[in-house]
Amino acid sequence: MTTAADRFAIKGFGPENLPYASFSPVDGKPRLGARLGNQAIDLSALADATGGLDRSVRAAISTSNLDALLAAGCEAWTALRAWLVDAVTTAGGDGIVADSSYPVDDILLHMPFTVADYVDYYASEHHASNVGKIFRPDEAPLLPNWKHLPVGYHGRSGSVIPSGQDFPRPKGLRPEQNGSPSFGPSRRLDIEAEMGFILGGSAPAGEVSVAAAAQHLFGVVLFNDWSARDIQAYEYVPLGPYLGKSFASTISLWVVPFEALSAARITPPARGPALAPYLNDEGEEPWGLDITMEVIVDGHTVSRPPVSALYWTAPQMIAHMTVNGAPLRPGDFFGSGTVSGPEKGQRGSFLELSWAGKEPFAVTPDTEMSFLTDGQTVTIRGTAPGPGGSTIDFGECTATVLPAT
Ligand code: CA
Repeated sequence: MTTAADRFAIKGFGPENLPYASFSPVDGKPRLGARLGNQAIDLSALADATGGLDRSVRAAISTSNLDALLAAGCEAWTALRAWLVDAVTTAGGDGIVADSSYPVDDILLHMPFTVADYVDYYASEHHASNVGKIFRPDEAPLLPNWKHLPVGYHGRSGSVIPSGQDFPRPKGLRPEQNGSPSFGPSRRLDIEAEMGFILGGSAPAGEVSVAAAAQHLFGVVLFNDWSARDIQAYEYVPLGPYLGKSFASTISLWVVPFEALSAARITPPARGPALAPYLNDEGEEPWGLDITMEVIVDGHTVSRPPVSALYWTAPQMIAHMTVNGAPLRPGDFFGSGTVSGPEKGQRGSFLELSWAGKEPFAVTPDTEMSFLTDGQTVTIRGTAPGPGGSTIDFGECTATVLPAT
């Protein structure tokens, strides 16, 4: 008697992972699914076939995306995952799973959830130091607040877009040598390789503690927060977080549940100055994440940013965004900020890889670049260790830059 996990599992998408997506079969309506190997399981159909799922959880998956499940809270998504793992690993259940599944090559993926508020953090010490060295070469690379709080900016939810959606080069005011700006397409279009965190449940009065934050961490995706460095540089010094960032931010479409990352949890980097009580994570479970990203330009890998190097953890970022009483809502989303490691080949932006255009970097032995040209495609991939020597694959986050409109 085989199990569905035996029959369908392939490296990276075994029963340890089971990421969620909103998908539609050819000519079918969008629905909520989970991936096992190269199959997308229709969760509603599987629940009808197997039964055994609590009625309220059953209702939360009868929709086209993750919104209802995020609103239902962590008890609902914990119960769903336990049921799903059981369904795909039960001997003899492979036929039932197969009957509820579609090959991933034959489906369309959609935005997996409705983005509520979007926050862009700046949690990588190596990235923040590199940016400091580039823009403030005569000062300390990190500003004095950086190790006391996770620096963040509110972003634009409406331009968080699904992987595979190409977008035109943004336009705006660009700095010029003569001091007067010119209006036109960005000349310094860049990427930011980040991890994106999807939150569920709610905290209407904010003040979510580091310890309580785990209840709100639903899942993780790859995230490319495209950035127009020239527009950004003109709208605020050293770098504005407004129109230079708000035109497009791409997420990968298979949402890896936080529970799938149990074997990837590691101690974050050693802390510097003592933290305020609301950010202090001493004695908490380790919330660093051993995820390795890969940045690929037109099929060529140019960088491998290590998420393990992030100074601030997801629970600390949740505690910070709510400490002033700001509410947390289902569908809230935040990016880690560009992930960069200590090595050059671990930098998560072209700004850093090319040192602001002064040192073009190799894409192939024969070609080098600094910022993006029209028609280039950037793909981010990511993997993490899973339980029992398995691998957790995040799929891909990809888009092509189209000419300006
Ligand atoms: Ca960013």
